[in-house]
Order: sequence, then structure tokens, then C-alpha cells
Amino acid sequence: MCGIVAYIGSKPARELLLEGLKRLEYRGYDSAGIAVLNGGIKVARSIGRVAGLEEMISIDSGFDGTVGIAHTRWATHGEPSERNAHPHSDNLKNGHGIHLVHNGIIENYVSLKKYLISKGHEFTSDTDTEVLAHLIGELYDGDLETAVQSALREVTGAYAIAVVCEEEPEVLVVARKGSPLIVGVGKDEYVVASDSSAIVAHTTQAFLLDDETVARLTRDSFRTTTVDNVELTPEIKELEFTLEQIELGNFDHFMLKEIYEQPNTLRTCIQGRVDAVGSKIVLGGVADFEAEIVKAKRILMLGQGTALHAAMIGEYLFEKLAGIPTEVEFASEFRYRNPIVEENTVAIAVSQSGETADTLAAVLEAKRRGALTFGAVNVVGSTISRETDAGVYLRVGPEIGVASTKAFIGQVAVLTMLATYIGRRHHLDRDEMSELLSALEQIPDHISTVLGQSDHILEVTKGVVDRDNWLFLGRGTNYPVALEGALKLKEISYIHAEGMPAAEMKHGPIALIDKGMPVVIVATRGSQYEKVIGNMEEVRSRGGHVIAVATEGDTSIVEHCDDVFYVPDVPEPLQPLVTVVPLQLLAYHAAVLRGKDVDKPRNLAKSVTVE
Ligand code: GLU
Repeated sequence: MCGIVAYIGSKPARELLLEGLKRLEYRGYDSAGIAVLNGGIKVARSIGRVAGLEEMISIDSGFDGTVGIAHTRWATHGEPSERNAHPHSDNLKNGHGIHLVHNGIIENYVSLKKYLISKGHEFTSDTDTEVLAHLIGELYDGDLETAVQSALREVTGAYAIAVVCEEEPEVLVVARKGSPLIVGVGKDEYVVASDSSAIVAHTTQAFLLDDETVARLTRDSFRTTTVDNVELTPEIKELEFTLEQIELGNFDHFMLKEIYEQPNTLRTCIQGRVDAVGSKIVLGGVADFEAEIVKAKRILMLGQGTALHAAMIGEYLFEKLAGIPTEVEFASEFRYRNPIVEENTVAIAVSQSGETADTLAAVLEAKRRGALTFGAVNVVGSTISRETDAGVYLRVGPEIGVASTKAFIGQVAVLTMLATYIGRRHHLDRDEMSELLSALEQIPDHISTVLGQSDHILEVTKGVVDRDNWLFLGRGTNYPVALEGALKLKEISYIHAEGMPAAEMKHGPIALIDKGMPVVIVATRGSQYEKVIGNMEEVRSRGGHVIAVATEGDTSIVEHCDDVFYVPDVPEPLQPLVTVVPLQLLAYHAAVLRGKDVDKPRNLAKSVTVE
């Protein structure tokens, strides 16, 4: 969360920074700010969206410079307001004109602030970030890079920062620990950003800053060091995605675009990895650890939000297909207990961004306790992908919509492949495996079929969208789908929704059901079908409005529900890959009908890089 973009080169910084901020806005939109060096410095900060900031500075010639920093904020310390917006500066009367943008949390900011106040510093915001600007100013002795290194040695917490100094207008210093930061390398210019989407329009050559490293950039040179000033040689690589992938195209929202991309992204995810005829799964990222993964006695799955729901599906798959006891944990809870990690445990971190702070911390804790660690992440080179022993990338392309959709499909697909990979080395028989894998290869087409019902889903949504409380029910692998359906609806339409195992409803939540309350029930054909029909009747007899997700051809379901979304018939372990799709569309339509900003839901931001 939070987007940073910084530039040093010969192009007008204002346009480049604003365009970068717009691309990063999905990471935070509490406020936006910019600082451009122009002989002195010109700073603007505004609450709310980047568009507001743009309007504010569009014809101000003070922003005509070629070096600058910019930020879009997801507030952690201090309310969203102009005074708390970044950039922050060491506004000491005889300060050095240090200006800084920051993503993360400076955990020891209280003690640092006391110290700085004792030195005469005056603070003008409630943020943790401002403390770092003052600390760099306090330690500044004519060299910005040295001052930043010294300050960062005093800091605990997480940061990605970009810093400029009025006394050194030809220098940009950036650094990171815990929060992501990428340095795009152009011809006599550098574009630094929280993720590649703000860089690819300018250059596709880039390097990732390692944790606790600092880069000093001038127009035509760079130097990277540790915070202790040990020089490093970063590897410059080609960025993997294209501009087209991060543009809206003909869609109204990134979320809708990404829902529609799912057939293709799933194809890319499984391509070259699934061999149905040979009953084989080929996963380059795990080959070196095959023996250890196969002899796992226990699998521990870690995630948050949508990734946690994918992990819960993984739990069913690992137990059913591979016969390995599996537990799923909220990453945030796992690390603060005294978790017991037995011998031969494989810990799997599931995360779209690969930067989720809770998940990263949990998987590192599992590693410390002896687990083999594994990442199922989307962003190549992200921290989790680098910190884990092995892993499989989702390959679903950049996900910009704050409400995750195609990454969920990718996560479930990767876990399915991994479960069958391990299962085949245990008891999963060749024919069973082959059947499952050919069914997996068909799923992209099946998702397209479900997408064809979007208009019908919209009509059904219109009938219930005014209701403020919803339930989502499912059993087996469709229970996490119910959780995911409820989460999607909450995130973008702000309708209160709860997901739960269908049988759990009668242990309490059934008391909520009154006339017309929408209850979405995943009732596809499978081992628990009859029981789910029973649950539907329980809802109907209390006046609830039942929307069923059912298997194509199941015409009798209409006797038990008010509305139905059909999905193609697929083997039970693979059902989540199709049953989640109508729920994504339902949430999308509900949000649009309610007039909500689908891609920038309130209080949320993509990639939760703070704990
Ligand atoms: N902790 C800082 C603040 O609240 C940075 C938050 C962010 O990453 O946007 O301003």
C-alpha cells in the first residue's frame, strides 16, 4: 500500500510523477503529494485523489523541474489530511531542505521524535514519516546519501523512501526495507517506484532494491550500498510486463477487466506445467526441493484476505489429493503465537503482491522454526518470492483492481497443481490424475461460459442490491468460495455480508434471516449436494431470498431457490475455479449499481505492506 514515484533525468518531472501516481493510485488514495526541485523546491499536497493534486498544480510553473518525488498515501499514523500528506520535510528553521516520501511504518518514531524535539525540531504533522525527514536533516553534514544511511541505522520498522535535498539538487536518494521499491534505469534518467506499473512507460530495464539498501542516483550514474555503506552491484533486469496489461482498454474498471482476463490468465498459469496425457505436473520452482516437499508430514498455509481463502481451498486439496495433514492460518495470528512447527513441515505463503507484511513475517517465522518455505505469489522478484526456499509464480499478470480476482484463480490453480504434484508421488493414481488435469485444462473455457452470464447476474443483482445484509453459504471446497463471495461484496459495495459453512447457519446466523434477505448458496453437484438443498429450504422457509450457484443442467434446483447462476459441471476439487466467478460478477454489479468506486474502495489499498 502507498505509492511512491521519484524521478531524476531531463524530462519534466511533474507530468511523469503525476502519471506515475495515477498508475499507483490503487495502492492508496487518502492523499497525494509532490515535490519538484526547481532551483529551490516546490511542494504541493492535497487530501484525496491524484486528480485533485493535478488540478492544483497544473499551470504552476514552479513545478517545472526535472527532479522530484511524489506519493499517494494510505494513512497509518495520522488522519488523512493535507498536513499529514507526504512529502514531509525537516522544516527546521535552519534545516537543509530535506524532503521525503515514505511507504511503511517507522516503529520507533515516538522515541526518535522526543530526541529530535529536544534538539529543537518542530513537527507539523502526526505522521511517523516526518520523524525520518527530521532525523536525516539532523544527521546531514553535506552529503545526503551518508545522512540517509545514518538515519536508517537508527530506524526500526518498514520503509521505502525517496529523498531529495535542496542543498544537493542533482541527487535523488532512495532506500527500502520491507516495503517494495524498484529502480527503472533509462538513458540518463531513473524512474523509481513502488511497482513497475509506474515505470514501464519509460523504461523496461530495472533493478529491485534489496532490503536495507540505499541507492544514490544522479542523472547519469547510480550507486547502491547497504545502510553501512558497503557497495553492492544490483542486477539490472528486463521488466516482465507491458503497458497494455496495465491499461483499462475498453473496460470501465480494472476489476471487471481482470475478471474477464481470467480464462487467459489461468491458461498462462497452467501452460507448460500441466501435462494431462502424461499425468505429470512440471513445476520448475520446486524441482530442487522435490524430495523435501514430497516427504512433508504437514503443510502449513499462510495468507490474509482473498489469499487466505485460496489457502483454505488448498487445505482441502492437499488433504484430499496428497493425503497430507494441512492447516491454514491467518499469517497475522501465526507469528504472534508460539506456533509449533514439527519436523518435515512445509509452510506455503500465499500472496498476490508477495509483499504482504503479515504473510512475509509469518513465513519467516516458520522458516526460523525449521519449516521448508514455499511461495505462491504473483509479483516476480517480490520479497516473499525471494525469502522463501522455493515457489511457483501465479503468472496472472499485474493485478490493479484492489479487490483481487484473477490472482485468486491463479492461487487456487497453483495449489491444485502442487497438490496433484505431491499426490502423484503418494497415492494419487495415474488415471485419476490424468482425468483431473484434463478437467483443469478445460477450466479456462468454462470460466468464459460463466462470464457469458454477466447480464443475467446483473439483472438478479438489481433485484436485491438494496438489501444491506447478506449471507454466503457453501460446503467443502465451496465454503472458502462463500467466504470469498462475501468478502468481494463487502470490499467494493460496502454491503455487510458473511460467509460460512452452510451447516453453520443453523447454529446461530439463521436468526438473521428475515423476509427478502439475500442468501447466496453454492449448490453445485457433488458429495454434499443434498445437504446443501436442505440448507436452501431452511433459508426459504424463513423468507430468505435464495440465489443458488448450481451445476449446468440441474433444472430441479429452481424449486429450491429464487434465482440461479449456472456453472459448468467440473470435478469437485476444481469447482472453486468456476463457482467463484459469478460471485465476483455479483459483487462488481452490486458496487456499480450502488455507485461505488470499484477500483478504489474506501479505506482499502492494494498490497498490504504494513502489519
Ligand atoms: N506511515 C506513513 C503515514 O501514515 C506512510 C503510510 C503509507 O505507506 O502510505 O503517512
